[in-house]
Amino acid sequence: MTDCIFCKIVAGEIPADVVFKNEYVTAFRDINPVAPVHILVVPNRHVDHIRDDAAFEDDVLKEMFRAANEVAHQAGIAGSGYRLLINYGPDANLVVPHLHLHVIGGRPLGPMVAR
Ligand code: AMP
Ligand code: ZN
Repeated sequence: MTDCIFCKIVAGEIPADVVFKNEYVTAFRDINPVAPVHILVVPNRHVDHIRDDAAFEDDVLKEMFRAANEVAHQAGIAGSGYRLLINYGPDANLVVPHLHLHVIGGRPLGPMVAR
């Protein structure tokens, strides 16, 4: 039994607005969106964060970025553009300790930071 909130979403144990799922990753809408499209892509297997060695095994990152492009296409923002973002550590305000890739778009985002 895991305490990880994103593992629970992957397992379907707590509700989420899942927009994409395959054998490697799950993508769901962020509950506190900073833009009209704000989707999180997570590996189905628990990985702590981007500095976890497990992030670099089994094509985890490749599949996350592939899925991010797919959900951006599905959300209709492949043409207008989007931002892909991974936070790490206190200065970046990493909150959830399960690796996740933010897909943010649907409005002009301005330079660099999303919020
Ligand atoms: P980070 O600062 O990179 O750790 O971002 C964590 C993100 O997860 C935030 O944007 C939260 O709004 C989002 N979040 C936290 N809990 C949930 C949840 N249960 N369902 C969807 N998004 C969540
Ligand atoms: Zn987890």
